Amino acid sequence: MLETKEIVSEKRCRICHRLLPFWRFSVRPRNKDGRSCACRDCARPYRKQYYKQKKEVKKKYNETYRSKNKEKCNFLTRKWMYRLRLMALNKIARAYYATSLSCVKCGFSDTRALQIDHINGGGTSELRHMVYCRFLQKILSSPLESIRNNYQILCSNCNMIKKEEMRENYIWRGKHTL
Ligand SMILES: [Zn+2]
Ligand SMILES: [Zn+2]
Repeated sequence: MLETKEIVSEKRCRICHRLLPFWRFSVRPRNKDGRSCACRDCARPYRKQYYKQKKEVKKKYNETYRSKNKEKCNFLTRKWMYRLRLMALNKIARAYYATSLSCVKCGFSDTRALQIDHINGGGTSELRHMVYCRFLQKILSSPLESIRNNYQILCSNCNMIKKEEMRENYIWRGKHTL
């Protein structure tokens, strides 16, 4: 009885041919003895390869899906960006203890024309899609105090006026000519 138990508790790896204790083989419920035919050491590179391949297949699938459903994907991206932008605006408003979303200068409150302004310069207007997403995510993950020091909500008009004023200052200081 003891002997058979000992035999069962060991298994030969099909790849390295070592006789190893059972726990050195990963669990495979579909196999007869419930364990993999290769020991964990031998299975590791295969597993890595397997996941790498799986990842590549998934990537390819995503790419073809995206190219076949361009409009749907674009719509979802835009929807997600819209939500992200609103969340970022809300967080900035919260950092200023504001109860509603509005321009800090004139109080304009239509969210379609509200923008996130870098208080100390640094334009964000011409940011590309992904960069803009990362910018919004950065705002969403930073603490309220640093948001209060760095960002504010301005409407497009006030933002434009601020930019013009900064440009005029710049020219005035003689560092730049028109
Ligand atoms: Zn092995
Ligand atoms: Zn304004």
